[in-house]
Amino acid sequence: MKRHAPLFILPFLSVLPLSACGDDGHDVDETAAFEEAFAQTELGKSDEGGCSGVVVPDRSGFARRVALTFDDGPNPATTPAVLDILKEHGIRATFFINGSRVRGETERTILARILAEGHILANHSQGHLDLKRVSADKLASEVDKTHAAILEAGGEPEFFRFPFGSASCAAMRHVEDKGYIVTGWHIDSADWCFAKGQGGYCSPATFRYVPDAYRRDLEGYTMSQVRAKNGGIVLFHDIHANTVEVLPRLIATLEDEGYTFVGVDDEATFPRLNGVPPPPQLFVGDACGEDAECNFASASAAAMCHRFSPEGADFETGMCTLPCEGTCPDMAGKSPTFCVSLDGGATGRCVAKAHEVNAECAAILGTTATMADRFIGQSSARPATALVCMPQ
Ligand SMILES: [Zn+2]
Repeated sequence: MKRHAPLFILPFLSVLPLSACGDDGHDVDETAAFEEAFAQTELGKSDEGGCSGVVVPDRSGFARRVALTFDDGPNPATTPAVLDILKEHGIRATFFINGSRVRGETERTILARILAEGHILANHSQGHLDLKRVSADKLASEVDKTHAAILEAGGEPEFFRFPFGSASCAAMRHVEDKGYIVTGWHIDSADWCFAKGQGGYCSPATFRYVPDAYRRDLEGYTMSQVRAKNGGIVLFHDIHANTVEVLPRLIATLEDEGYTFVGVDDEATFPRLNGVPPPPQLFVGDACGEDAECNFASASAAAMCHRFSPEGADFETGMCTLPCEGTCPDMAGKSPTFCVSLDGGATGRCVAKAHEVNAECAAILGTTATMADRFIGQSSARPATALVCMPQ
């Protein structure tokens, strides 16, 4: 259900807490729009089927890589400060601009600086309307005007973000036919909500999805989401003073925790978004060189590359595994798995069962099909044995 009724009941108030950024005097219920976007990214809900302007086709495997994105600028009061911070940290980011913000030479200079410093200049439409609700002609002009502004600045228009992530299938098709990659986000920092409240308070009435513990903590809220997803595309707005204020601390925390920064055009992090084949998904039993390669979605941080030298061999090999007690996950198209001990009974590790998928272990270098006992640990799993691919 969309909640637009208050706009009709209270037209005088709509320009205050409910209207979106931009200056066309349009009525968009920002709270409803961002809450719908959140529901699409977090809960997998989309009332438009596969035409969400928010959902990014790459859902995992970010390996601690973060793409910072800044929408709704340029704003001469804040965007230069954002650029200063990014420059200090050597970070390449993406700026989704609104053409209506480019009013004169001051803004054009900012666009030139965005490009000169290596960032991506991207299209966020002219006037920040809800493009799901405009005519085909209006949609075309909203896209084209900012397209022209990017070209004039010397940029290459390639990425488009729908205001509020709000798209219809027809609008999506129009934008893609123009050659754009529609780019949503994985993490909404909700800086727009924190910017609205007194003292940086993001009210439940403005954005209900922020947990109470983070109602005054833009940095904490953003980090909690980045940690949960192990990276991804993060939505900010370079038009808010509180975003500028929090950014240095947030970046320092990300750096301390081992995150690195990429553009939305990074094919290793976002292959599907950029239209390249994703790397093969490794799983328990697959050959690997390092832990990061085994970062499969179902087990993220816990997955590891078990390195070993096969008996009598003068080389090392590796296979992906997971800590376990009693049970292990399976993945469609891969060998079934089994929890065993690889260290004489101290800890459990998932290994592949001998199976036609792995040619009865022949496809897993350095292993042979061996009967092994289940590692039970503290679990309530029953004792069992299975024919598994054990390192030799
Ligand atoms: Zn926006």
